Amino acid sequence: MVFMTTRLVRLAALFAGVALAGSAAGCAGTGMASGGARAGRPSVLAAFYPLVFVAEQIGGPEVRVTNLTTPGVEPHDLELTPRQVGAIADADLVIYLKGFQPAVDEAVEQNAGRALEVAGVVPLTSTPGSGTDRDPHFWLDPSKLAQLIDPVSEQLAAVDPGHAHTFAERATTLHTELAELDADYRSGLASCARIEIVTAHAAFGYLAERYRLEQIPIAGVSPDQEPAPDRIRQIQQLVQDRGITTIFFERLLSADLAETIAGDTGATAALLDPLEGITDPATNDYLTVMRANLAALRKALSCT
Ligand SMILES: [Zn+2]
Repeated sequence: MVFMTTRLVRLAALFAGVALAGSAAGCAGTGMASGGARAGRPSVLAAFYPLVFVAEQIGGPEVRVTNLTTPGVEPHDLELTPRQVGAIADADLVIYLKGFQPAVDEAVEQNAGRALEVAGVVPLTSTPGSGTDRDPHFWLDPSKLAQLIDPVSEQLAAVDPGHAHTFAERATTLHTELAELDADYRSGLASCARIEIVTAHAAFGYLAERYRLEQIPIAGVSPDQEPAPDRIRQIQQLVQDRGITTIFFERLLSADLAETIAGDTGATAALLDPLEGITDPATNDYLTVMRANLAALRKALSCT
């Protein structure tokens, strides 16, 4: 079951690669046909969704932001098509996180012009439960995502100095929105019956650290690290001993394992989205998904 999940993820990544190649070609065609003022917009290539969100919020209609990771695809260890490697070389700005997607690191080092490496401006650390000295999932702590705002704004201003003031204004707005989200998490999780969150993979270390929760991950810091049978028995024991009511699963990974663990213990499975991708960008963004996550956490932990 777990093996199948991994295979499905890889298959999805393959199809998505083809889809992206197709849509990139479509965009180029449209640009040539319509031309106009927007054809000259700076192009920003962001490696996965939370980086796209920050670039879009600050860049607005003045820049064209492309996500290297197609929506619906699990971004860990993303593989790149030759066309995507070409897009990295052509972009006015590439935003990526070293160590999260090695194929992107390599393509950036060999081909990119201006690049913003996120870990250079947002310090990554070890987090409890992550089992690594450099947990990549910084965006699940809104105060850490906020550390990316000014560097992105400055890079966009360097690419397009004529809009520097506009970018700075949007950066201020985004600072306010993330500070409000952080405040809502603080107050929403301040008084809860439990602190343990059982998660599909170890993505919530920074979130747990900031809001004083305890993450109990089923898989490791990368979803491909499959849990040993020992680990599953250990989690079931913890669920029983501590009266945990909820086993969280992710949108981009199978819910089977969460449901199996939950079923054996009397707990229920619920969605907690690590925001590594966004499934419905027309109706959802980082802020709406983070607020849905907060509601799911408050329910699971019986917060007042
Ligand atoms: Zn992850």
